[in-house]
Amino acid sequence: MRDATRVVRAGLPPAAQGEPFLPGPAFAGVYHAAGDPAQAPYTYGRFHNPTWTYFENALSELEGGPSVVFASGMAATAAIFGVTLRPGDVVALPADSYYTIRLLAHGYFAQMGIQTRLAQTAQNAQIQALDGVKLLWLESPSNPNLDVCAIAALAAAAHERGALVAVDNTTPTALGQQPLALGADFVVASDTKALTGHADLILGHVAAREDTWAERLRAWRTQMGAAPGPMEVWLAHRSLATLEVRLERQCQTALRVAEYLTGRSDVLAVRYPGLATDPAHEIARQQMRRFGSVVGFTLATRSAVEDFLGACTLVYEATSFGGVHTTAERRARWGGDAIPEGFIRLSVGCEDADDILADLAQALDKSWPNEA
Ligand code: PLP
Repeated sequence: MRDATRVVRAGLPPAAQGEPFLPGPAFAGVYHAAGDPAQAPYTYGRFHNPTWTYFENALSELEGGPSVVFASGMAATAAIFGVTLRPGDVVALPADSYYTIRLLAHGYFAQMGIQTRLAQTAQNAQIQALDGVKLLWLESPSNPNLDVCAIAALAAAAHERGALVAVDNTTPTALGQQPLALGADFVVASDTKALTGHADLILGHVAAREDTWAERLRAWRTQMGAAPGPMEVWLAHRSLATLEVRLERQCQTALRVAEYLTGRSDVLAVRYPGLATDPAHEIARQQMRRFGSVVGFTLATRSAVEDFLGACTLVYEATSFGGVHTTAERRARWGGDAIPEGFIRLSVGCEDADDILADLAQALDKSWPNEA
């Protein structure tokens, strides 16, 4: 089956007379469970929930490995760290990974005796940082720089040294990139972003290569209480059905936007892995099936960006990315990333491409005087 069909049908139970296609959310903290709890399919809401089961079945089909849903992308990240790392272990992170993941490693996990080694995503620099590593963490494309690394080559090099490999696949989703097939042991994603795509929930998941890891991740979720709400999980499953349609539109428009920005003299730099001239394009082309909705570009000054964002009428100034609404922000306003003051992370939504391009053009024209 092709992607559009797979996402519409993923995880749905067999058709049953008089039943909805996707059963509604099971709002249950406690289930009737008499006698031996091992004989009851569901007992207590922190352990399991039928709405999670349907969604996890969908994710497992799409990712190619047993999947565990978490209350957020960070809860999913912390679960991988928690089940794989022990005092004295080293985790290799991309220096340009999502900032809060580096904060978590340098904060709580450092206190637990785990060392962090940083290297850039670009030019596969993490390959030089693998000796003695227990867990290699990749994020490709990286957020916000949109650099790309060769996942299969890095995973093979890490496995040769006995390390495990996790890939943060938030930006491309399972329809854009398949890290388990490229050799990773874990794929992790913030489903807050493109996978659900409506800016209406916080959620994450991990898919593992092996069942034993999935079991350990489930035990972590239960013991840490990183349990997602049934409403969020049900909304996520409902939204998943349109993932292919959304991504097709977003990726096509994102490429047009990147090409348009490349042609403007007031735009100093553009990054989009789908752009033929992008330094990451060659590797991206080999391992990605879709290049995602996020475009990075740089204006000369902070005030030019502020004027640009203020002049946009269709672009929400907001953090996060991957949703149906086009959003943008001056990423340096948060700190923590090695990016210019004038760097903008633009997430292209599902609006009409010509409308978005026209809005970007008029807003850039208005911000131009500040460039002098
Ligand atoms: N990974 C990446 C690449 C992200 O961009 C984010 C959030 O921005 C996360 C993980 C964390 O996800 P969440 O905000 O759902 O906890």
